[in-house]
Amino acid sequence: PSERANYKDKSDRATNEQVLDPRTRLILFKMIGRGTISEVNGCISTGKEANVYHALNSQGEHIAVKIFKTSILIFKDRDRYVTGERRFRRGYSKHNPRKMVRLWAEKEMRNLKRLVSVDIPCPEPIEVRENVLLMRFLGTEAGWASPRLKDAEIPEDQLPDLYKNLLLIVHKMFHECKLVHADLSEYNILYHQSQLFIIDVGQSVEHDHPSAFDFLRSDLKNVEEFFSRRGVPCLGVRRAFEFVIGETSTEGFIATKQLDKLFSEIQKSYTDDTEFYDERQHSDDKVFMQSYIPRSLDAVYDPERDVDLVRGGEGSSLIYSDVIGIVGVTEGMKKIEIIPEEDKSEEE
Ligand code: ADP
Ligand code: MG
Repeated sequence: PSERANYKDKSDRATNEQVLDPRTRLILFKMIGRGTISEVNGCISTGKEANVYHALNSQGEHIAVKIFKTSILIFKDRDRYVTGERRFRRGYSKHNPRKMVRLWAEKEMRNLKRLVSVDIPCPEPIEVRENVLLMRFLGTEAGWASPRLKDAEIPEDQLPDLYKNLLLIVHKMFHECKLVHADLSEYNILYHQSQLFIIDVGQSVEHDHPSAFDFLRSDLKNVEEFFSRRGVPCLGVRRAFEFVIGETSTEGFIATKQLDKLFSEIQKSYTDDTEFYDERQHSDDKVFMQSYIPRSLDAVYDPERDVDLVRGGEGSSLIYSDVIGIVGVTEGMKKIEIIPEEDKSEEE
C-alpha cells in the first residue's frame, strides 16, 4: 500500500543513521522468527533517542516498533531523570550504553503497563527485548499513524473537553500510577479516535522523585500553553498543579467533580474579560514557575533552610504544598500558599 512508500524515504535515512546496528537487527530477526512480528515496513518517526517503525504481526495486525538508539551521547542528558530514581539505583551504568538503553526501553514498557492497568489511553506494550519495544500501533486500519496533538486537526468545540480529559489523565497518572510523565507536551500525545493517547513514557519518574514536582509543573505548563493558544479557557499552571496533586481519592468521579467546579469558577471571569483573565493568569503563573516547591516532609519542616532559600534569591517565593496527601495520609486538600514578599522579614 501507499503508506509504505511514504515511510520508505525516512526509513532509508534511519538506516543511514545506523540505528539498526547488527545486534538490533538480530533482535528483530529473532522476533520475526518467533512470529511476534512478520515484517518491518518503514519508519513512522526518527527522533534523537529512538526511531519508531511500522510492522505487522503474524496475524497481519499493525504494530509499532520503537528502537532506542544505542549511542552514549544521546543518553547523557537523561541523567536528571535517573538521578534520584529508585528503580535505577542498581544496574545503571553510564559506561555501558547498551545496558543503559535496555533499562530505558524496559522502563517505558513498565510505565506503559501501569497506564494500561488504570485505563489511561496509551499504546499497550507487547514486549521488550533489549533496545526494541513493541507496542500497539495507534493509527488507521490502513496503517496510517495517528497524528500528534501538535499536528492534529481537531474541531474547535472538542478542545475544551480534550483539555479537561488530559488534566484528568495527569491526575490519574499521578495518584494511581504514581508517575509524573516528565516530557508531556503536544509532541508526546497522539490524537487517536477522537481521544488523547499518552506516549513516550520512558523518562517518566516516580511521584516521589526529588524533581517530580518540577517535572509536573513543566508538563502542565506545556499543556496550558498549548490549549490556551488554541483558545481554550484554561486553569493556569498553578491551579492545574493544585488540582493534580490535591485530590487523593482514587475514585475518578470525585476528581471530575472537582475539575468541573474549578471550571465553573473560572468561566465567568474568563468570559467577562478574557484579556484581563489571561494577563492575570500569566503573571500568576510566572511567579509559580519560579517558585521553589518542597517535595518532602523534611523539606517543608526545615524553616531555616527555607528562609535561606528565600534570602538567597532562589526564585521570588516559597511554596508549601500538600505533601501530606502524597505520602498517603488523608488530610484532605490543602491549598498551595505563596508566601508574599512582605512576610519574609518577619520569618527571619
Ligand atoms: P521519541 O523518544 O522519539 O520522542 P516517541 O515515543 O515520542 O519517541 O515516538 C516518536 C513518534 O512516533 C511519535 O511522535 C508518534 O508520531 C510515533 N509513535 C510512537 N508510538 C506510536 C504508536 N504506538 N503508534 C503510532 N505512532 C507512534
Ligand atoms: Mg516523543
